Amino acid sequence: MSSIAAVSFKTGQPAPPDLGLGECEDLKDENEKNRAEVVKRMEAQKATPNGRWTEEEERVLNMAKGTGMTFSTGTNNLANATSQLSACSNAVAQSKAPDLLSGGGTSEQVNGMNKMKRHSCDEQYDAEKEKAGVLCDKSHIHPGGGFGGHAEPKIVNDLTNQVGAAAIRGGKMLFNIDWRNKNFNSGMPCQHCYKMLCHAAKECDIKIYICSEGKESYELSADDCEKDGSYSALCMKVDGSPTPGR
Ligand SMILES: [Zn+2]
Repeated sequence: MSSIAAVSFKTGQPAPPDLGLGECEDLKDENEKNRAEVVKRMEAQKATPNGRWTEEEERVLNMAKGTGMTFSTGTNNLANATSQLSACSNAVAQSKAPDLLSGGGTSEQVNGMNKMKRHSCDEQYDAEKEKAGVLCDKSHIHPGGGFGGHAEPKIVNDLTNQVGAAAIRGGKMLFNIDWRNKNFNSGMPCQHCYKMLCHAAKECDIKIYICSEGKESYELSADDCEKDGSYSALCMKVDGSPTPGR
């Protein structure tokens, strides 16, 4: 018998992910690999003689190669969840690599709900809210208009469905975000996705971390979420500027 004291891990609990340098680099590689793979597969499709190739696919290919598309990868230590998930903000791009990119949950989750319905206490919307809700006890609903189809919500939608709305509470999530806008590249979530991540931190006690370009990860502090200018403050850490853009 060994006399060395056992390291105490609770049975069945995964060890917390190392939210350090290597992890952010791995997630960055994953985003780049996924983007390159979508481009490669779409170019192969385009080059197929007599193959089907639409104007929309041409537009999406150009976005994947240039700007207008976000690829994100998230890792987590939630029980019963796939520990690492990647997603892309564009549904056509996702359809070219469903083996690599998250499907993003149900159409109700992706579509979200408009502000009036989300904030209404009228029970006529309860069933709709139940279908669209994500995170702990389905307490968050994405705004209508496509925001639930951004890359980070897709990851959160899938995780909610994997873990279950009752259990998606506590634990850690780390995101590396590759947002390529017409005017800038950024590692930040947009304002809407930031709100969702703040909700996860505040209401569901999930520790949220975002990778900076310097490959460090910064916690999105639940306390900071309350403050004016908290988005800019996180942006300073992640992008080195008060608004998204490196
Ligand atoms: Zn977003």
